[in-house]
Amino acid sequence: MIVVKVALAVVLSQYVRTRVDDRDPNSPCLYWTDKTNIVFHQNSEGNPDTPGDSEHPAVTRAFETWQAENQACGSLTLTEGARTSSRMAGYDETSASNENVVLFRQKMCTVAQCTDDDTCGNKHDCWQHAPTAIAITTTSFHPKSGKILDSDIELNAPRFLFTSVDSPPCPAGMFDVTCVATDVQNTVTHEVGHLLGLGHTSETGSTMAPRADPGETSKRTLDANSKRFICDVYPVGKPSKSCIIKVVDDDLGKPKTGCAAAPGTLGLLALLFLRRRR
Ligand SMILES: [Zn+2]
Repeated sequence: MIVVKVALAVVLSQYVRTRVDDRDPNSPCLYWTDKTNIVFHQNSEGNPDTPGDSEHPAVTRAFETWQAENQACGSLTLTEGARTSSRMAGYDETSASNENVVLFRQKMCTVAQCTDDDTCGNKHDCWQHAPTAIAITTTSFHPKSGKILDSDIELNAPRFLFTSVDSPPCPAGMFDVTCVATDVQNTVTHEVGHLLGLGHTSETGSTMAPRADPGETSKRTLDANSKRFICDVYPVGKPSKSCIIKVVDDDLGKPKTGCAAAPGTLGLLALLFLRRRR
């Protein structure tokens, strides 16, 4: 029995992939097609609370961290496109231009706006997710294959003070932009992991650990298992690993919307179609 428990602990300390249905361990994993150039766009409004425009380079650095790993052993390319006016998270099947957007929501949705309406965040440009979530990544994918079509990152600016300095951590309860409150780069590095198909891990200190306390910057640096995810799932010169055994027609079926982010702080929440789980 003890041996089994040890073996299980080893498995749990590895990276975790997001699946089409997180409750079904046999459902397809989410992945981008190999050699995809994932172009992301920062919303031009940025975040007024973060001094200057320093939130923008912080977001850029988060993507660059993952791009460095792709250059080392992966097949994807993460490219920053022009700033965008789009504030839409999710996928519009009728649109030819579904940008991968990073945006800071500036107000909470009211209950009246959002009763049984999962599109209210886009409609009213408000934070519709759990108030305690720092950020949410909404990923749209083909439901049969898990092939990712689009992924967008929203940050919860009404609730969290996003900072971009490297140090020191803000004293408890004394948040200011001259110290680290909720670090933009720390947050977005974690969310880009979701964008690439990673779920949360129980491994303490991992970029993909579900919590981020005030003052934290450690998620800016990828842990060994998160790096290995890129090498394993997006190997150079080979197809992306889909983690399904039989070939399916991934052009059938409606895209679903998946979402990973954060109860507590960077917790986990999943959206399938327009259904949300907490
Ligand atoms: Zn998360």
